[in-house]
Amino acid sequence: STSRMPVTDGEDEISNLTTIFNEMLDNIQRYMEQQQRFVEDASHELRTPVAIMEGHLKLLNRWGKEDPEVLNESLNASLQEIERMKNLVQEMLDLSRAEQVEMFYQNKVTPIKEVIDQTYTNFSMIYPDFTFNMDNELTAAMQVKIYRNHLEQILIILLDNAVKYSTDRKEIHISASQDGHAVQIAIQDFGEGVSTEDLQRIFNRFFRVDKARSRQKGGNGLGLSIAKQLIDGYQGTISADSVVGHGTTFRISLPLVLTKK
Ligand code: ADP
Repeated sequence: STSRMPVTDGEDEISNLTTIFNEMLDNIQRYMEQQQRFVEDASHELRTPVAIMEGHLKLLNRWGKEDPEVLNESLNASLQEIERMKNLVQEMLDLSRAEQVEMFYQNKVTPIKEVIDQTYTNFSMIYPDFTFNMDNELTAAMQVKIYRNHLEQILIILLDNAVKYSTDRKEIHISASQDGHAVQIAIQDFGEGVSTEDLQRIFNRFFRVDKARSRQKGGNGLGLSIAKQLIDGYQGTISADSVVGHGTTFRISLPLVLTKK
C-alpha cells in the first residue's frame, strides 16, 4: 500500500490504466501476504517434530542410551516424528501442485462411477471394522472434468477424515448422483462433528479443531485445504454440514462432461 500510483481524474486511458495497475499491485500484495503466512505456518508445524526429536536425542545422549527401555521409546518416538515430517512435506508439495491445476490438468476427464466404486471397495477392505454404505446413482458412461488421481486424492482425504473423526458409530455413507450438469458426491459420518464456528475454518491451511488430538491421529490440517484447492481448480464446489456429537457431511460437486450418443 506504499507505492500506489496516483489516479488522475477523468475517463481517459491513463486514469483507467492506473486503476488497473493499482488493482494488480493489491493482488500481488495479497498473494505475497498469503505466501508469507503459509511459510510461517509451515515452519511452525515443522518445528514441533524437530523439537520432540531433539528432546529425545538429548535424553539419549545424556544417559538414556544406557536404559534399553528409554532407548527403545526414544527411537520409536523419533521415528514417528520423522514419519510425520515426511507426510507434512509431501502434503505441502501436494498443496503447491494443487494450485497449478488450472495450468496443467484442465482438459482431463475421468469415469466418475468407476472411481467412486473403487475407492469404496478399497476403504471397505482397509477398514473392516467400519460399515460403508454406498448409494451410487451414476452410470458407467458419465465422465467428470478432473484428472483421475486428483479425484481419488479428494475422496481419500474425505474418507480418511470420516474414519479418523468417527467415534462409537463406525458407519460412513457415500452417495453420488447427477444434478443437472454436475455430479454431487456426499460423504457422511456419525462422528464427533465440528462446531459452526470452526466449520468456517476447516478448509484453511493448517487449521485443526483440536491441535493435540488431531496431531495424535497424524493430522496436520492440510488435507481439506488440498481437497478444496483441487476442486476449485476444476470449477467444482465443496461444502460441509456438521452437528457436534452427531456427525459431518461433506458435499462436493464437479462439472460433468456431457457425452454425445
Ligand atoms: P487433518 O489432517 O487435521 O485431518 P484436515 O485439513 O483434513 O486436516 O481437516 C482439518 C480439521 O477439520 C481436522 O483437524 C478436524 O478438526 C476437522 N475435520 C475434518 N474432517 C472432519 C470430520 N469428518 N469430522 C469432524 N471433524 C473433521
